[in-house]
Amino acid sequence: MSNCPKCSSEALVETPALGNIPLDVCPGCSGIWFDKGELEALLKQSQGWDSADFSLINSMPEGLICPRCKNKMSRGGLVNPLLVVDKCEACGGLWLDPHELELVKKLLGLSGGPSEVKVDRPAPVPEAPPVRDVKTVLIKVVSGVCAILGLIGVSAELYLYFSPAASVAHAPSVGLSVASVMFFIGGVFALNWED
Ligand SMILES: [Zn+2]
Ligand SMILES: [Zn+2]
Repeated sequence: MSNCPKCSSEALVETPALGNIPLDVCPGCSGIWFDKGELEALLKQSQGWDSADFSLINSMPEGLICPRCKNKMSRGGLVNPLLVVDKCEACGGLWLDPHELELVKKLLGLSGGPSEVKVDRPAPVPEAPPVRDVKTVLIKVVSGVCAILGLIGVSAELYLYFSPAASVAHAPSVGLSVASVMFFIGGVFALNWED
């Protein structure tokens, strides 16, 4: 996959124009990459135009980096010296900023047909679920243990409370009951804590 020569972080998206010309379009700046012959093919298919001379006028080796072959592209006039575009002399590819396709057609005296190629940014790749660090796992484990201890404490105190005094060795303790309940609630609360 090639990146946009203008906004280099965007990957070009292959977008069929007129059904069968796989143009590469930038979802960020809407620039269009034409591989060698694709612009000619597009104009020929859409408007029957067939006299291609897309060699650059006053070509200067100071363009963008070619997204295909990574050579430095040249800047020069396309059809007209005033329409300055980037073209790769190495692979013959051509980069048009948005609206430059329309200008090319105007200069050629063409009207109708596609003047821009719409592209949708591909759906972002869903982020991987965050990896829980050791600290978080440790807190969860401790919380779980606290909740279980609290539950055991509450059960024991309830058991003592409801048993006949003669059959148990200890009297139920209010302090221990409260502590157990606090442990249980605190543990469950911490267990469900999302940071
Ligand atoms: Zn771009
Ligand atoms: Zn190239």
